[in-house]
Amino acid sequence: MREKSPELEIRSLLIKPVKCVIIPHKNPDGDALGSSLAINHFLNDKGHKSIIISPNDYPDFLKWMPGESDIVNFKLNTKESKRVINSADLIFTLDFNDLSRVNEIKSHIEKASAKIIMIDHHENPKDFAHIKISKPEIGSTCELVFGLIESIDKDSITAPIASCLYTGIMTDTGSFKYSSTSSNTHRIIAKLIEKGANNSEIHQNIYETSSLNKLKLLGIALKNLKKIDNKPYVYITLSQNELDKCKFKKGDTEGFVNYGLSLKGICLSIIMIENSDEKIIKMSFRSKGNFAVNVLAEKFFNGGGHINAAGGQSADSLLKTEEKLIEILKSLPSEK
Ligand code: 5GP
Ligand code: MN
Repeated sequence: MREKSPELEIRSLLIKPVKCVIIPHKNPDGDALGSSLAINHFLNDKGHKSIIISPNDYPDFLKWMPGESDIVNFKLNTKESKRVINSADLIFTLDFNDLSRVNEIKSHIEKASAKIIMIDHHENPKDFAHIKISKPEIGSTCELVFGLIESIDKDSITAPIASCLYTGIMTDTGSFKYSSTSSNTHRIIAKLIEKGANNSEIHQNIYETSSLNKLKLLGIALKNLKKIDNKPYVYITLSQNELDKCKFKKGDTEGFVNYGLSLKGICLSIIMIENSDEKIIKMSFRSKGNFAVNVLAEKFFNGGGHINAAGGQSADSLLKTEEKLIEILKSLPSEK
């Protein structure tokens, strides 16, 4: 007998009303929040009891998304979050492939009796879910959620759902410019606009709401940009002191790393940001073509991600991390 598709399995779990918890990865981005909110709207519209629990806070530029104000922050509401996770029938995990990406929520998901449904587009997913929609070749989790909702009920894509999905697809494809953007991505985007996503307003909400401090911090980041001699690689550092000078708020450094890739001939850009509270250096890696930054992040900086966009961290000082990075980059073959 042919196995049921994950979409059909999910559909059959939703025949009677169920209690659902939706969990995006820590430091959720537009795709993690967009996909979580879209599923949450869909489930509540269909008469289920659904709630989103985020491992931690997220940037202000995402705090306009429809339904966003109902998201529960695990860090601020730990007791209530644990209770809800414990009594859920279904747990949806969105936009991550490994439970280490949800901090302390990991152990509560592992203990829960709920069926776990993973929807994600990162490579090499860990085996923690009962049902998996895992497609690394797709540019965003929001695209997968669109497919899921459409397969269950085409007519249930409301304007709020359309706005959430549009946001995640836009942010995870670099506004439809990364190579993961397909003709199908554009077909989905067209349908979302027809369903009520206001593309121009969403673009402004995400990209044109910077504070003056954020722009000043970008100035410092660009001043700090350095190129590796004779290699098409650049990197940026930001110290805690520099962040403090510009009254850093979560999300202020989003997108800074991409400026390195705007340089002609550069195929690798890295940003290293000091975080004194967590005592780590947070790193972001971006590349063009077949330079696999997820391999670099995983091998040397305890991270991972996609071929052209990855993240990681270092427990060394900013200076030591910079020295280690220079050494690694110098030893890489130029032609990659
Ligand atoms: P960003 O640089 O924007 O933080 O992350 C880029 C990509 O790398 C995202 O797809 C994100 O999921 C992934 N990523 C970021 N940080 C980490 C990390 O510490 N570990 C892993 N495995 N992936 C990460
Ligand atoms: Mn994503």
